[in-house]
Amino acid sequence: NKQVIFKNFVEGFPKESDMEVKTSSISLKVEEGSNAVVVKNLYLSCDPYMRIRMTQSDQETDDPEFIPFTPGSPLEGFGVAKVVDSGHPNYKKGDLIWGMVKWEEYSLIENPQLFKIHHADVPLSHYTGILGMPGITAWAGFYEVCSPKKGEKVYISAASGAVGQLVGQFAKLMGCYVVGSAGSKEKVDLLKNKFGFDDAFNYKEEHDLDAALKRCFPEGIDIYFENVGGKILDAVLLNMRLRGRIAACGMISQYNLHQPEGVHNLMNIVGKRIRMEGLMAFDYFPQYEKFLDAVLPFVREKKVVYVEDIAEGIEGAPAALVGLFSGRNVGKQVVAVAKE
Ligand code: NDP
Repeated sequence: NKQVIFKNFVEGFPKESDMEVKTSSISLKVEEGSNAVVVKNLYLSCDPYMRIRMTQSDQETDDPEFIPFTPGSPLEGFGVAKVVDSGHPNYKKGDLIWGMVKWEEYSLIENPQLFKIHHADVPLSHYTGILGMPGITAWAGFYEVCSPKKGEKVYISAASGAVGQLVGQFAKLMGCYVVGSAGSKEKVDLLKNKFGFDDAFNYKEEHDLDAALKRCFPEGIDIYFENVGGKILDAVLLNMRLRGRIAACGMISQYNLHQPEGVHNLMNIVGKRIRMEGLMAFDYFPQYEKFLDAVLPFVREKKVVYVEDIAEGIEGAPAALVGLFSGRNVGKQVVAVAKE
């Protein structure tokens, strides 16, 4: 059983050498009535929050995505898998599932809380992205937290990624004016030509982010979907409209910093009556069926497209994860571990 072991807590940017691939043995059988399952992992999801779990922390938290990894043990993350044996009444051999697994070829999961996959007519890798955790984040973050209205002006940072590409397409379906930023020409082309954004820019080539936003939004921004934080947030605050909304989904530019960057323009929140609200994907998991009813038809009818960046083989998982922080991924970063 090949495993990706988390070696030790990380400071600064994560490196491939913070993880190592090792082989151990695992029993593929569970005792009846044990409430455990053994799954064969098919796809592993690389997600930015995993960096937060690589930092040593003595802060108490109930949020599973913030509990530090255990040095010497495999990483954990969302994945798509097939049940190979089950002692749990809700799961049977052959079931396809998505949920929290360990970064290894086969995982023993005690007291599993896994979603069963009932629709396998779409690519199974989608359950790490558009039909999984990033999908529900984009859906709840946009439709619920942003309170969008037709015609509003929407800006999305890290816009070509797992979450951003969806938020932009949802906003276009609602009739909003949508602009995204990303870190390469290839990604900017995707935003404009594949995802149908009205405009897009490469933030790495803009020496003045405030000017870039004024160029794209001469009348200001109604909705900002925040994925990046730091300097981008600061420039956005100068360009928000009265009663604008900011969905604080993540701030990836801050995850590798020892000291978070200061935000200087916060006072704009007061005068412009801006509502800035954080969201956590887990809060919306109880609404998963409602989410699927809404988004699965978009996938089947190709009203929403989804770009994935699939690394082949578990050996490539450390590089794939680290690549999120240099923008190496183009679209949702997935690791393909095995075939069904
Ligand atoms: P992505 O697929 O967008 O991958 C991360 C991207 O972030 C990179 O490709 C890179 O794109 C960009 N990036 C990396 N470092 C920086 C930086 N210093 N400054 C600006 N951009 C950077 O990731 P996701 O879509 O999965 O996640 C996007 C955000 O949403 C993250 O902040 C994540 O933590 C958050 N999130 C929050 C959830 C929640 O429950 N609250 C759930 C899921 C995600 P580029 O080339 O454009 O720079």
